[in-house]
Amino acid sequence: MGDTKRLAVTTLGCKVNQYDTDSVVTQFLDAGYRVVDFQAAADVYLINTCTVTNLGDRKSRQMIRRAHKKNPSAKIVVMGCMAQTTPEDVAALEGVSLVVGTDGRGRIVEEVEALEQGEQLSLVDNIFEVSDFEDLPSLDFSGRTRATLKIQDGCDQFCTYCRVPFARGPSRSRTPESVLKQAKQIVALGYKEIVLTGIHLGLYGADLDPPTTLAAISRKAADVPGLRRLRISSVDPHEITEDLLELVGDHPVVCRHMHIPLQSGSDAVLKRMKRNYSSGQFMDVVKSLRARVPEIAITTDIMVGFPGETEEDFLKTLELVREAEFSKIHVFQYSKRSGTAAARFPGQIPSREKEDRSKRLIHAGEALSERFHCSFIGQIADVLVEQQQEGQAHGHTDNYVKVSFPVSDGVDLVGETVSVQVLKADSAGVMGRLIGKKE
Ligand code: SF4
Repeated sequence: MGDTKRLAVTTLGCKVNQYDTDSVVTQFLDAGYRVVDFQAAADVYLINTCTVTNLGDRKSRQMIRRAHKKNPSAKIVVMGCMAQTTPEDVAALEGVSLVVGTDGRGRIVEEVEALEQGEQLSLVDNIFEVSDFEDLPSLDFSGRTRATLKIQDGCDQFCTYCRVPFARGPSRSRTPESVLKQAKQIVALGYKEIVLTGIHLGLYGADLDPPTTLAAISRKAADVPGLRRLRISSVDPHEITEDLLELVGDHPVVCRHMHIPLQSGSDAVLKRMKRNYSSGQFMDVVKSLRARVPEIAITTDIMVGFPGETEEDFLKTLELVREAEFSKIHVFQYSKRSGTAAARFPGQIPSREKEDRSKRLIHAGEALSERFHCSFIGQIADVLVEQQQEGQAHGHTDNYVKVSFPVSDGVDLVGETVSVQVLKADSAGVMGRLIGKKE
């Protein structure tokens, strides 16, 4: 134990970044490393950076400094979106040994081992020239019941507020063979739920030869024997096809949950964001889903305070939110991101205005969440148990309602699907009593 090399890891940003970290950690574990806490002294520090906001950059730099302070002779590997977009700035930070962008992560362990003390190497390529999905298996999943499966990277859309296409490059898809191989491995490890994820999931398959679609790969993944639930993480409204609707409506393993980023309910704002759909098209998709899939949970992301957003624009968003009856809204305040088109747009909104709109929208979102949750009172819910603590078990239904219920001492239900009678509800979820295990 004393001789094994210590790896300390931290990840900023999104679920895709977490998947990328897990796949690199898997390689370090295979090479005999052991993972220690990020606050501890380690031989190698791996920092997977985020650049989605200016704050993401700042936090990433902070983590690099923290690692160097903890052990000045450690090798520091910086990977991910900030490393990809500003590799020279990252390389200039004290203690950085290896800079890797959002490709070439399969070489990290080998390069770290080859580096001499004090040496530095950059593996950052021009991401716009990368055309293949970097196929890295990840077998190091956090949690015991739900595993993320990354099937796509990159984005071709260039929304005016977003830096991701510069950090991640063009859309690249994992081959169906590789997706299914990894899905089977995940099931064999005992996971009950797979979340299909990517940077722009709706583009899945278009770059493959022969081309395929998100609906087709989701159906194949959902058919993997032993899998209980397949969740599709996020799809833009104009990419929800008839096939996808049918799959979510009919396949018993596919969760009745769609996360569809709205961003704004005002067509003028959507146009300036370059979002490629109108509020009317968004509502058409919502109506089709509701008609097809009873009790579906539709969740969304909304950005308030985009440059030029008037009170009238914001009221349109509020109106659409009520009409769409989202079960959960993630509210973001627009933050000026250097290097994006929107950062140069006129009509930047003062922070107190953004704060005020954000509060009003959060309030509206909570009321809708509560209403959605209350509609299940008295019903029996199927819950996949994810956690147990101090006599309480917690999990989700397939339509993403958080369920809590008391359990007796000595009973371990984590990983089981159970029936729970819903007794109470609030905006955070529902509470109930255990009826029994399913199957
Ligand atoms: S779709 Fe838009 S917001 Fe999403 S990653 Fe691509 S550019 Fe960014």
